[in-house]
Amino acid sequence: MVVVENLVKTRIVYLGLGSNIEQPRLQIKKAIKALENLDNITVISNAGYFESKPMGPEDQPDFVNTVVKLETVLTASELLTQCQLIEQQQGRVKKRHWGERCIDLDILLYGCRQIKTASLCIPHSGLCQRDFVYKPLLKLNAEIEIPGKGLLRNIIKNNDTVTSGYACQFTGCIL
Ligand code: AMP
Repeated sequence: MVVVENLVKTRIVYLGLGSNIEQPRLQIKKAIKALENLDNITVISNAGYFESKPMGPEDQPDFVNTVVKLETVLTASELLTQCQLIEQQQGRVKKRHWGERCIDLDILLYGCRQIKTASLCIPHSGLCQRDFVYKPLLKLNAEIEIPGKGLLRNIIKNNDTVTSGYACQFTGCIL
């Protein structure tokens, strides 16, 4: 008898979303809705709105960020394609490095995988340094572990100085 194993694996994924132009809160809501509408993704929860001063050029509006937890059978590369499609659908135009954007979706964590390819770096390279990423992430899972590094809450204890100047704070639930 031949046993065919089901090789499709479901992963828990955390995405970082950010926006600072064209009604940032609405942009974030729209992107979450778009994720919910995808067949191979189940959105589990979000961290709510977190607001902060821009990390790059200062002559741009403050940012609104969130982190979304989801479950998916998509590969990381397929998921990146879906994230980029959502960015395109919402009309994202790249203006300048670390500049204003109507929506940005980043894959922060993909299960417990570490991935380094030409188009993907997971865990996301800024995850442990940027408070607008790790604060919402820790809100969703205070015990979250960063593959290859350990508990996020322990890692960030050592890098307070990195985030000073653009401390982010929770400003409300996404309704
Ligand atoms: P951004 O300007 O933040 O939208 O960066 C987009 C680029 O980052 C894309 O070309 C991606 O291939 C690349 N990238 C690398 N790692 C990631 C990741 N973990 N999530 C999303 N984009 C990534």
